[in-house]
Amino acid sequence: MQENLPAAIAARGRHGKRFNKQDQVAWMRLLNKRGWLAASWPVEFGGTGWGVVQKHIFEEECAAFGAPAIVPFGINMVGPVIIKFGTPEQQAHFLPRILNSEDWWCQGYSEPGAGSDLASLKTRAVREGDHYVVNGQKTWTTLAQYADWIFCLVRTDPDAQQQRGISFLLIDMKTPGITVRPIITLDGEHEVNEVFFDNVRVPVQNLVGEENHGWTCAKYLLTHERTSIAGIGQAKQMLSRLKKIARAELRNGRPLIEDTLFRSQIADVEIQLKAIEMSNLRIVAAARDGGVPGPESSF
Ligand SMILES: Cc1cc2nc3c(=O)[nH]c(=O)nc-3n(C[C@H](O)[C@H](O)[C@H](O)COP(=O)(O)OP(=O)(O)OC[C@H]3O[C@@H](n4cnc5c(N)ncnc54)[C@H](O)[C@@H]3O)c2cc1C
Repeated sequence: MQENLPAAIAARGRHGKRFNKQDQVAWMRLLNKRGWLAASWPVEFGGTGWGVVQKHIFEEECAAFGAPAIVPFGINMVGPVIIKFGTPEQQAHFLPRILNSEDWWCQGYSEPGAGSDLASLKTRAVREGDHYVVNGQKTWTTLAQYADWIFCLVRTDPDAQQQRGISFLLIDMKTPGITVRPIITLDGEHEVNEVFFDNVRVPVQNLVGEENHGWTCAKYLLTHERTSIAGIGQAKQMLSRLKKIARAELRNGRPLIEDTLFRSQIADVEIQLKAIEMSNLRIVAAARDGGVPGPESSF
């Protein structure tokens, strides 16, 4: 990392600036060149074959160097689903493109009426010959403004029991009928979006797994998502940056870090972060010993 992380990218990371798409793609391409991009993929698909502990250490080191986090949607989410449930054709087409950062993916799970209660999702896909016709809306879609593809949960059987009538579809974002609308969050940033589908025609070969069995793919993917989303390495970096600023910043002629109230607030955050780090390590240890992430990973 010392030799390969471009100085301009590292500086942005250290100063707490937002990485842009070019930074993220540049860094993912460098990692891929070294064979270190797909830490959770098997070696035969171009992954590292690392265990969970090695993967955890690697992520901590990346964060400590101020490297951009790996964009999870291709590598950590849809990739493992295609490896587990995809056809050989889907694997041959999509997996190398994910590794080379040719395709930027986004996640189409949540809807205005389906968040925690994801199985109540309503986006509809109706089979017409060798296509599905998709109508509906997704929301909170992170970085959809950059995406070439979206993986979507859609309802293919409205009469079946909720979890049974859902399918997992791969949709090209350039297909006519797709509209992406930005949601600007409280911090003024544009990270999440609404995505609308108006008679979007998707070839049936873009179905992953069996029709109406998409819930199995969805759950498999979330198990991967839950353990990688805590961002503890990054949070530790940000906290140490905050302390550095507070040492330099003066309040009433003294460094802010010496202010009693401020110190106790920092200590509070640090204790909470330590606690969640310990929880994360317990999950990593359980996974190392052959367990699967349970409810504690959602927590
Ligand atoms: C920054 C950000 C990025 C996101 N990116 C994506 C993305 O890329 N793709 C995507 O598909 N989704 C994305 N999401 C959506 C995210 O997965 C949902 O926000 C999440 O599933 C919760 O749904 P909700 O926001 O509708 O909240 P709700 O489900 O409406 O929950 C609101 C509150 O009610 C509580 N609650 C809900 N049900 C119960 C219950 N039965 N009992 C007790 N309490 C309950 C919840 O704990 C919560 O406090 C993103 C969200 C955020 C904030």
